[in-house]
Amino acid sequence: MFKDKEKTIEIIEKSIKKSLVHSNEGDVASYIPELANVDPTDFALSIICVDGQEYNFGDYNKLFSIQSISKVISLIMALNDNNVDEVFEKVGTEPTKYKFNSLIPIDDIAANPFINAGAITTSSLIKGKNLDEKFNRVVNMVKKLSNSDNIIFLEKVYKSEMDTTDVNRSIAYYLRSKKIFSLDAEEVLDLYIRNCSIGLHSTDLAHIGALLANGGKNLSNGSEIISKDSVRIVLAQMASCGMYEESGRFLLEVGMPSKSGVSGAILGVVPGKCGICVYSPRLDKSGNSVVGKNLLKSLSEDLDLNIFL
Ligand code: GLN
Repeated sequence: MFKDKEKTIEIIEKSIKKSLVHSNEGDVASYIPELANVDPTDFALSIICVDGQEYNFGDYNKLFSIQSISKVISLIMALNDNNVDEVFEKVGTEPTKYKFNSLIPIDDIAANPFINAGAITTSSLIKGKNLDEKFNRVVNMVKKLSNSDNIIFLEKVYKSEMDTTDVNRSIAYYLRSKKIFSLDAEEVLDLYIRNCSIGLHSTDLAHIGALLANGGKNLSNGSEIISKDSVRIVLAQMASCGMYEESGRFLLEVGMPSKSGVSGAILGVVPGKCGICVYSPRLDKSGNSVVGKNLLKSLSEDLDLNIFL
Protein backbone atom coordinates (compact mmCIF):
# COMPACT_ATOMS: atom_id res chain seq x y z
CA MET A 1 0.00 0.00 0.00
CA PHE A 2 2.81 2.39 0.81
CA LYS A 3 4.99 2.42 -2.31
CA ASP A 4 8.37 3.20 -0.81
CA LYS A 5 8.96 1.22 2.38
CA GLU A 6 12.14 3.10 3.41
CA LYS A 7 10.48 6.47 2.95
CA THR A 8 7.39 5.29 4.87
CA ILE A 9 9.55 4.17 7.81
CA GLU A 10 11.25 7.57 7.79
CA ILE A 11 7.88 9.39 7.87
CA ILE A 12 6.54 7.15 10.65
CA GLU A 13 9.68 7.69 12.75
CA LYS A 14 9.27 11.46 12.44
CA SER A 15 5.59 11.21 13.45
CA ILE A 16 6.55 9.09 16.47
CA LYS A 17 9.12 11.67 17.53
CA LYS A 18 6.55 14.47 17.30
CA SER A 19 3.98 12.55 19.34
CA LEU A 20 6.41 11.44 22.05
CA VAL A 21 6.79 15.11 23.01
CA HIS A 22 3.49 14.47 24.83
CA SER A 23 4.71 11.37 26.66
CA ASN A 24 4.61 13.03 30.09
CA GLU A 25 1.06 14.32 29.72
CA GLY A 26 -1.88 12.53 31.32
CA ASP A 27 -2.04 9.65 33.79
CA VAL A 28 -2.36 5.89 33.60
CA ALA A 29 -5.80 4.53 34.55
CA SER A 30 -5.85 3.74 38.26
CA TYR A 31 -9.53 3.12 38.96
CA ILE A 32 -8.75 -0.49 38.01
CA PRO A 33 -5.89 -1.04 40.51
CA GLU A 34 -3.99 -3.51 38.32
CA LEU A 35 -3.79 -0.99 35.46
CA ALA A 36 -1.84 1.41 37.69
CA ASN A 37 1.03 -1.11 37.69
CA VAL A 38 1.93 -0.66 34.03
CA ASP A 39 5.04 1.22 32.94
CA PRO A 40 3.75 4.63 31.80
CA THR A 41 6.67 4.97 29.37
CA ASP A 42 5.69 1.87 27.38
CA PHE A 43 5.18 2.63 23.72
CA ALA A 44 4.29 0.51 20.71
CA LEU A 45 3.05 1.17 17.21
CA SER A 46 1.99 -1.45 14.66
CA ILE A 47 0.62 -0.79 11.21
CA ILE A 48 -0.60 -3.67 9.05
CA CYS A 49 -1.73 -3.00 5.50
CA VAL A 50 -4.32 -4.95 3.52
CA ASP A 51 -1.54 -6.05 1.13
CA GLY A 52 0.34 -7.60 4.08
CA GLN A 53 2.98 -4.86 4.56
CA GLU A 54 3.76 -4.58 8.26
CA TYR A 55 5.49 -1.84 10.27
CA ASN A 56 6.33 -2.23 13.97
CA PHE A 57 8.01 0.22 16.36
CA GLY A 58 8.71 0.28 20.10
CA ASP A 59 7.66 -2.53 22.49
CA TYR A 60 5.37 -4.27 20.05
CA ASN A 61 5.85 -7.54 21.94
CA LYS A 62 4.41 -6.02 25.09
CA LEU A 63 1.19 -7.62 26.34
CA PHE A 64 -1.61 -5.29 27.49
CA SER A 65 -5.32 -5.66 28.21
CA ILE A 66 -7.68 -4.84 25.38
CA GLN A 67 -10.14 -2.96 27.68
CA SER A 68 -12.73 -1.00 25.70
CA ILE A 69 -11.42 -2.11 22.33
CA SER A 70 -13.21 -5.37 23.24
CA LYS A 71 -16.40 -3.38 22.61
CA VAL A 72 -15.62 -3.75 18.89
CA ILE A 73 -15.42 -7.52 19.30
CA SER A 74 -18.66 -7.68 21.34
CA LEU A 75 -20.47 -5.69 18.65
CA ILE A 76 -19.14 -8.01 15.93
CA MET A 77 -20.31 -11.03 17.91
CA ALA A 78 -23.71 -9.53 18.73
CA LEU A 79 -24.20 -8.87 15.01
CA ASN A 80 -23.10 -12.42 14.16
CA ASP A 81 -25.44 -14.00 16.70
CA ASN A 82 -28.51 -11.81 16.06
CA ASN A 83 -29.93 -9.79 13.20
CA VAL A 84 -29.17 -6.07 12.90
CA ASP A 85 -32.62 -4.96 14.08
CA GLU A 86 -32.47 -7.19 17.16
CA VAL A 87 -29.15 -5.58 18.12
CA PHE A 88 -30.19 -1.97 17.57
CA GLU A 89 -33.49 -2.46 19.37
CA LYS A 90 -31.38 -3.02 22.47
CA VAL A 91 -28.61 -0.45 21.96
CA GLY A 92 -28.57 2.95 20.23
CA THR A 93 -26.24 4.32 17.57
CA GLU A 94 -25.65 7.89 18.74
CA PRO A 95 -22.56 9.51 20.30
CA THR A 96 -22.79 10.94 23.80
CA LYS A 97 -21.02 13.77 25.59
CA TYR A 98 -20.97 11.80 28.84
CA LYS A 99 -18.13 9.65 30.15
CA PHE A 100 -17.81 6.03 29.03
CA ASN A 101 -19.07 4.63 32.34
CA SER A 102 -21.86 7.14 32.90
CA LEU A 103 -25.40 5.99 33.60
CA ILE A 104 -26.84 9.15 32.09
CA PRO A 105 -26.71 8.06 28.43
CA ILE A 106 -29.04 5.13 29.16
CA ASP A 107 -32.38 6.55 28.20
CA ASP A 108 -34.51 3.58 27.33
CA ILE A 109 -31.43 1.96 25.85
CA ALA A 110 -27.68 2.73 26.03
CA ALA A 111 -26.64 5.53 23.67
CA ASN A 112 -24.26 3.37 21.60
CA PRO A 113 -22.33 0.06 21.71
CA PHE A 114 -19.01 1.75 22.59
CA ILE A 115 -19.83 3.10 26.03
CA ASN A 116 -19.89 0.64 28.94
CA ALA A 117 -23.68 0.38 29.05
CA GLY A 118 -23.72 -0.37 25.31
CA ALA A 119 -21.04 -3.04 25.55
CA ILE A 120 -22.71 -4.65 28.56
CA THR A 121 -25.78 -4.81 26.29
CA THR A 122 -23.89 -6.33 23.33
CA SER A 123 -22.26 -8.80 25.76
CA SER A 124 -25.77 -9.92 26.74
CA LEU A 125 -26.44 -10.66 23.06
CA ILE A 126 -23.50 -13.07 22.70
CA LYS A 127 -24.83 -16.63 22.50
CA GLY A 128 -23.57 -19.66 24.42
CA LYS A 129 -24.68 -22.37 26.87
CA ASN A 130 -22.97 -20.67 29.81
CA LEU A 131 -20.48 -17.96 30.70
CA ASP A 132 -17.41 -20.08 29.95
CA GLU A 133 -18.69 -21.07 26.54
CA LYS A 134 -19.55 -17.46 25.69
CA PHE A 135 -16.14 -16.20 26.77
CA ASN A 136 -14.38 -19.00 24.84
CA ARG A 137 -16.24 -17.92 21.75
CA VAL A 138 -15.07 -14.32 22.28
CA VAL A 139 -11.44 -15.39 22.73
CA ASN A 140 -11.64 -17.59 19.65
CA MET A 141 -13.07 -14.70 17.68
CA VAL A 142 -10.16 -12.45 18.78
CA LYS A 143 -7.71 -15.21 17.73
CA LYS A 144 -9.38 -15.53 14.36
CA LEU A 145 -9.54 -11.78 13.72
CA SER A 146 -5.95 -11.19 14.80
CA ASN A 147 -4.63 -14.35 13.14
CA SER A 148 -2.77 -15.03 16.35
CA ASP A 149 -2.68 -17.70 19.03
CA ASN A 150 -0.93 -15.37 21.48
CA ILE A 151 -4.20 -14.12 22.94
CA ILE A 152 -4.50 -14.76 26.66
CA PHE A 153 -6.83 -14.02 29.55
CA LEU A 154 -5.24 -11.61 32.06
CA GLU A 155 -6.67 -13.00 35.27
CA LYS A 156 -5.08 -10.36 37.53
CA VAL A 157 -6.63 -7.54 35.50
CA TYR A 158 -9.99 -9.35 35.55
CA LYS A 159 -9.95 -9.90 39.32
CA SER A 160 -8.80 -6.37 39.98
CA GLU A 161 -11.68 -4.95 37.95
CA MET A 162 -14.28 -7.40 39.32
CA ASP A 163 -13.38 -6.27 42.84
CA THR A 164 -13.83 -2.59 42.07
CA THR A 165 -16.48 -2.43 39.39
CA ASP A 166 -19.50 -1.12 41.29
CA VAL A 167 -20.36 1.36 38.54
CA ASN A 168 -20.48 -1.33 35.84
CA ARG A 169 -22.41 -3.57 38.22
CA SER A 170 -25.00 -0.79 38.68
CA ILE A 171 -25.21 -0.38 34.91
CA ALA A 172 -25.79 -4.12 34.42
CA TYR A 173 -28.59 -4.22 37.01
CA TYR A 174 -30.12 -1.03 35.64
CA LEU A 175 -30.21 -2.44 32.11
CA ARG A 176 -31.81 -5.61 33.42
CA SER A 177 -34.43 -3.56 35.26
CA LYS A 178 -35.17 -1.85 31.92
CA LYS A 179 -35.70 -5.33 30.38
CA ILE A 180 -32.79 -4.89 27.96
CA PHE A 181 -31.92 -8.46 28.91
CA SER A 182 -33.39 -11.08 31.21
CA LEU A 183 -30.13 -12.95 31.93
CA ASP A 184 -28.46 -12.83 35.33
CA ALA A 185 -26.91 -9.35 35.63
CA GLU A 186 -23.83 -10.73 37.44
CA GLU A 187 -23.17 -13.12 34.57
CA VAL A 188 -23.50 -10.43 31.91
CA LEU A 189 -21.21 -8.16 33.92
CA ASP A 190 -18.71 -10.99 34.32
CA LEU A 191 -18.59 -11.61 30.56
CA TYR A 192 -18.13 -7.87 29.90
CA ILE A 193 -15.21 -7.64 32.38
CA ARG A 194 -13.63 -10.85 31.05
CA ASN A 195 -13.82 -9.41 27.53
CA CYS A 196 -12.00 -6.26 28.74
CA SER A 197 -9.29 -8.45 30.34
CA ILE A 198 -8.15 -10.17 27.16
CA GLY A 199 -4.41 -9.67 26.75
CA LEU A 200 -2.80 -9.09 23.37
CA HIS A 201 -0.10 -7.09 21.54
CA SER A 202 -0.14 -4.07 19.25
CA THR A 203 0.48 -6.36 16.26
CA ASP A 204 -2.66 -8.37 17.11
CA LEU A 205 -4.88 -5.29 17.25
CA ALA A 206 -3.34 -3.85 14.07
CA HIS A 207 -4.16 -7.14 12.39
CA ILE A 208 -7.80 -6.88 13.51
CA GLY A 209 -7.78 -3.35 12.07
CA ALA A 210 -6.32 -4.57 8.79
CA LEU A 211 -9.01 -7.24 8.53
CA LEU A 212 -11.71 -4.59 9.04
CA ALA A 213 -9.92 -2.37 6.49
CA ASN A 214 -10.08 -5.35 4.12
CA GLY A 215 -13.88 -5.57 4.37
CA GLY A 216 -13.80 -8.47 6.85
CA LYS A 217 -11.77 -10.75 4.58
CA ASN A 218 -8.69 -12.74 5.59
CA LEU A 219 -5.62 -10.89 4.29
CA SER A 220 -3.89 -13.92 2.79
CA ASN A 221 -6.67 -16.05 1.30
CA GLY A 222 -9.61 -13.64 0.98
CA SER A 223 -12.03 -15.84 2.92
CA GLU A 224 -14.82 -13.97 4.73
CA ILE A 225 -14.32 -13.73 8.51
CA ILE A 226 -16.87 -10.95 9.15
CA SER A 227 -19.63 -9.97 6.73
CA LYS A 228 -19.17 -6.70 4.85
CA ASP A 229 -22.46 -5.43 6.35
CA SER A 230 -21.12 -5.96 9.88
CA VAL A 231 -17.81 -4.29 8.98
CA ARG A 232 -19.69 -1.23 7.69
CA ILE A 233 -21.69 -0.97 10.92
CA VAL A 234 -18.63 -1.44 13.14
CA LEU A 235 -16.56 1.15 11.25
CA ALA A 236 -19.41 3.68 11.22
CA GLN A 237 -19.83 3.29 14.98
CA MET A 238 -16.06 3.54 15.52
CA ALA A 239 -16.03 6.80 13.53
CA SER A 240 -18.99 8.32 15.38
CA CYS A 241 -18.60 6.88 18.91
CA GLY A 242 -15.20 5.18 19.25
CA MET A 243 -13.34 7.89 21.16
CA TYR A 244 -16.01 8.58 23.81
CA GLU A 245 -16.98 12.23 24.30
CA GLU A 246 -14.07 13.27 22.04
CA SER A 247 -15.34 11.26 19.08
CA GLY A 248 -16.48 14.24 16.98
CA ARG A 249 -13.31 16.22 17.56
CA PHE A 250 -11.11 13.20 16.87
CA LEU A 251 -12.92 12.43 13.61
CA LEU A 252 -12.56 16.06 12.59
CA GLU A 253 -8.83 16.16 13.37
CA VAL A 254 -7.77 12.63 12.45
CA GLY A 255 -10.44 11.38 10.05
CA MET A 256 -10.14 7.71 10.92
CA PRO A 257 -12.63 5.25 12.50
CA SER A 258 -10.96 4.44 15.84
CA LYS A 259 -11.57 2.81 19.19
CA SER A 260 -9.66 3.46 22.37
CA GLY A 261 -9.29 1.59 25.66
CA VAL A 262 -8.18 2.66 29.15
CA SER A 263 -5.10 0.44 29.00
CA GLY A 264 -3.79 3.10 26.60
CA ALA A 265 -4.32 1.41 23.26
CA ILE A 266 -6.09 2.93 20.28
CA LEU A 267 -7.09 0.96 17.21
CA GLY A 268 -7.45 2.98 13.99
CA VAL A 269 -8.80 1.65 10.69
CA VAL A 270 -8.27 3.17 7.26
CA PRO A 271 -10.75 1.33 5.00
CA GLY A 272 -9.08 -0.27 2.00
CA LYS A 273 -5.65 0.54 3.39
CA CYS A 274 -4.54 -0.50 6.86
CA GLY A 275 -5.11 -1.11 10.56
CA ILE A 276 -3.07 0.82 13.11
CA CYS A 277 -2.56 0.19 16.82
CA VAL A 278 -0.80 2.64 19.13
CA TYR A 279 -0.13 1.70 22.74
CA SER A 280 0.93 4.30 25.33
CA PRO A 281 -0.73 4.10 28.76
CA ARG A 282 -1.02 7.75 29.86
CA LEU A 283 -4.61 8.94 29.29
CA ASP A 284 -6.41 12.25 28.94
CA LYS A 285 -9.56 13.09 30.93
CA SER A 286 -11.77 11.17 28.50
CA GLY A 287 -9.72 7.98 28.84
CA ASN A 288 -7.93 8.24 25.49
CA SER A 289 -4.15 7.71 25.20
CA VAL A 290 -2.48 11.13 24.87
CA VAL A 291 0.46 9.94 22.76
CA GLY A 292 -1.89 7.62 20.89
CA LYS A 293 -4.25 10.32 19.69
CA ASN A 294 -1.38 12.67 18.81
CA LEU A 295 0.39 9.94 16.87
CA LEU A 296 -2.74 8.97 14.93
CA LYS A 297 -3.21 12.63 14.04
CA SER A 298 0.37 12.94 12.75
CA LEU A 299 0.18 9.66 10.84
CA SER A 300 -3.10 10.71 9.28
CA GLU A 301 -1.52 13.94 8.06
CA ASP A 302 1.93 12.65 7.15
CA LEU A 303 0.84 9.41 5.46
CA ASP A 304 -2.32 10.92 3.99
CA LEU A 305 -4.72 8.56 5.78
CA ASN A 306 -7.71 10.85 6.45
CA ILE A 307 -10.81 9.11 5.04
CA PHE A 308 -12.33 12.50 4.18
CA LEU A 309 -9.51 13.40 1.69
N1 GLN B 1 -12.94 -2.22 31.67
C1 GLN B 1 -13.09 -0.80 31.58
C2 GLN B 1 -14.36 -0.34 32.26
O1 GLN B 1 -15.35 -0.98 32.13
C3 GLN B 1 -13.09 -0.41 30.13
C4 GLN B 1 -13.25 1.08 29.95
C5 GLN B 1 -12.43 1.66 28.85
O2 GLN B 1 -11.47 1.07 28.33
N2 GLN B 1 -12.72 2.89 28.53
O3 GLN B 1 -14.41 0.64 32.96
